[in-house]
Amino acid sequence: MTFYKIQINKIAIRLSCTLFLLCAVNSLNAQERLRVDYEIMEYMQLKSNDDTASASIGTVGNGTLKHAKLMPYKGKNFIYFDRESYLAGRGFLHGLVRSSVLTTYDSLSRALPHRYFNIMECSNEDGGEMFPHKTHQNGMSIDFMMPLLQNNKPYYGLDTIGAAHYLLNFDDEGKYSRDPSISIDFNLVARKILLIDYFARQFGLNVTKVIIKIELKDELFATEYGQLLKASDIYVVQGLSPLINALHDDHFHLDFGFSYTKTPQAENTDATNRVPAE
Ligand SMILES: [Zn+2]
Repeated sequence: MTFYKIQINKIAIRLSCTLFLLCAVNSLNAQERLRVDYEIMEYMQLKSNDDTASASIGTVGNGTLKHAKLMPYKGKNFIYFDRESYLAGRGFLHGLVRSSVLTTYDSLSRALPHRYFNIMECSNEDGGEMFPHKTHQNGMSIDFMMPLLQNNKPYYGLDTIGAAHYLLNFDDEGKYSRDPSISIDFNLVARKILLIDYFARQFGLNVTKVIIKIELKDELFATEYGQLLKASDIYVVQGLSPLINALHDDHFHLDFGFSYTKTPQAENTDATNRVPAE
């Protein structure tokens, strides 16, 4: 290769890198979301998914995960909520759960092109205990940030505070305690749960449990999609311990199970299932 050809190749590489960065910066500005830096990109590359099917062992409350798949840090309409949590390896899932969620976001990006979502903690790469969660042990649990509204418009002002988001408080009507003009978009919460379950079923899974603060269920079920959720066979928790209940106001938690197993999942008969879990 001649000297000039090498130079042209170098320029082309620099140009494409610059273009890539510009595109990334533009989309970030549009979303006003967390930064995606080289450390995140390198981590995603390091943990890029293999082709081996994931295996969830045990239950959400006492289990492990093999051949976990990492959630992308960011997609067109979603982002993982906390950089440190992600780099600490807490964004892993069973591959089919990951596929169910990614398909849902793809669908939502077409139905609601200007709405953005946050994924909160998932599981460790090998599963197992993930303090302070009692569950999230076998890649079949995810926390999702509540989408918010202010003056009937999407509100993202609380999305970028990272792990502290778990500590936010909302009243029993879903209004943010420090600014009641900000409230949970319950209709969208219900719509998202229904969509996730719909797509999960296409991967042989379903949503086996929704954990949300008990006092918020009335508001959730009062919405258009909430009525569909209430009429569905998706189980929304009936009772929780005071601590676990109080924690599930800024986010909701979903557990997944396999729809077509011949025997019920261990977690459905396990005593831990009756203990309020996070
Ligand atoms: Zn959870």
